[in-house]
Amino acid sequence: MTQTLFRDDAYLAECSATVTAVTGQGLVLDRTVFYPLGGGQAGDTGVLVLADGREIPIADTRKGKNAEGQFTADICHLPALPDPAASVEDHLLRMGVKAGDIVTARVDWARRHRLMRFHTTTHLLCHLVPQLVNGCSITPDYARLDFNMTDALDKDVLSAGIAHLVAAAHPVTVGSISDAELDANPALVKSMSVQPPRGSGQVRTIRVGAGPDALIDFQPCGGTHVANTSEIGAVVVTKIEKKSATTRRVVLGFAT
Ligand SMILES: [Zn+2]
Repeated sequence: MTQTLFRDDAYLAECSATVTAVTGQGLVLDRTVFYPLGGGQAGDTGVLVLADGREIPIADTRKGKNAEGQFTADICHLPALPDPAASVEDHLLRMGVKAGDIVTARVDWARRHRLMRFHTTTHLLCHLVPQLVNGCSITPDYARLDFNMTDALDKDVLSAGIAHLVAAAHPVTVGSISDAELDANPALVKSMSVQPPRGSGQVRTIRVGAGPDALIDFQPCGGTHVANTSEIGAVVVTKIEKKSATTRRVVLGFAT
């Protein structure tokens, strides 16, 4: 099991950790600052620094899977392979990495911060567009959110709405509710495509806005977020697409 430091502090860019397993899915650590692909948000990249100073570039981070294909509580750090045909396990063994080794796990912070800015912006969009979400993808270069709706959306109106919420500098806070509270309030789940991060009896939540009078958005989410909407900066809607008769896709980008 990997301790998920990024859930409590999204601003932690590095940590010391112990290798618990070297597998075909990558290196498993006892704790990590690397976010694994999930909830629409891309997995982190970065480096693992070995005790002798050598660096293992990490190309992606994924949740571990068991033989039945179900997610485990391990987080797997996938090394960039110099030879794409090489096996992950062989590459790591050749580098002399083994269980018990101490490493420094360091995320590509500039890339992660872009992911955080985009992820929080998608929650602002959930406030601006009160329809259910049926698709989501957050990458370092753009993000897209698909809404289950037939009405048209206006790119400039949404960009202005985002800019207004960014300028208002709303705090973004992590909390949790119980599975039972979530079951009693199904409307909190705004996504048809992403399941709330259940499993421990508690579901992690993200609140945008302080207090009941200034609540912008509140929903279950396992992703990494900025601490204040002002940190989002210049994010705009670059495109709106009619993806299907019942889906409008909103694409976000950084204003240049
Ligand atoms: Zn989210």
